Amino acid sequence: MNIEGMLRYQKLDREVNQLNEQFRTSEATKQYNKYMKLYKQTIEDGKRMSGVISEHFLNVERLTKQYEKLLSDIDEYYKGVDEINDLKQADYYEKQLMKLYSALEAIEKELDNVRKELIKLDADAKAFFANVNNYFVAVKRSTPEMEKVKLEIQLKAKEVMSAQKEIEKTIEPELFEKYKKAKEVAKFPPLVPFDEATNSCMGCGLELSKDIAAKLRQEGGLEFCPNCNRLVYKQ
Ligand SMILES: [Zn+2]
Repeated sequence: MNIEGMLRYQKLDREVNQLNEQFRTSEATKQYNKYMKLYKQTIEDGKRMSGVISEHFLNVERLTKQYEKLLSDIDEYYKGVDEINDLKQADYYEKQLMKLYSALEAIEKELDNVRKELIKLDADAKAFFANVNNYFVAVKRSTPEMEKVKLEIQLKAKEVMSAQKEIEKTIEPELFEKYKKAKEVAKFPPLVPFDEATNSCMGCGLELSKDIAAKLRQEGGLEFCPNCNRLVYKQ
């Protein structure tokens, strides 16, 4: 087994990881991410606000319909006034009218409240548009610098990865597949030596079972650590 080659490949994997980290923590990327996050947050806030506004408009529509219905009810009552024959009836009409008028007043109040809410939201909407615009400009401004850093790092990573391709040709597919599997699930480094003196995984320090340790002592021994999922090899 070409463990030497696999270890050289792993060393280059570390370089790729470091380059990714370098990109992620660069000032340009941080700036870009900060503005992008703010921009997305503002859009989300805007969506919520637009939901509230449409609810208010639905409310206005509902209240207006109620208002119109009450007005036509009042109209009907006035038409009936000509046919009042006694005081008792007049009293009844008056009470009914009073009820309708106070219902009308309640709706007017509600509409007024909605109007006040909408005025407040109008100011929020103006602030929203200003924010969206500001953050959009900030994202646009910070993009070229971030792209520049990205390109530089990608070029370096490409070099490292093409060196890895060359090494890969010299590695047995079985070993390479096992390495890839460990890389997916374990912390870096995925390939670690077996400590023969203590029978343990040198990745996490776990003392391996007799069975695994025996397999590792054989020529070309290669086993997964049940604790850290790293691939353990005999030195
Ligand atoms: Zn381990």
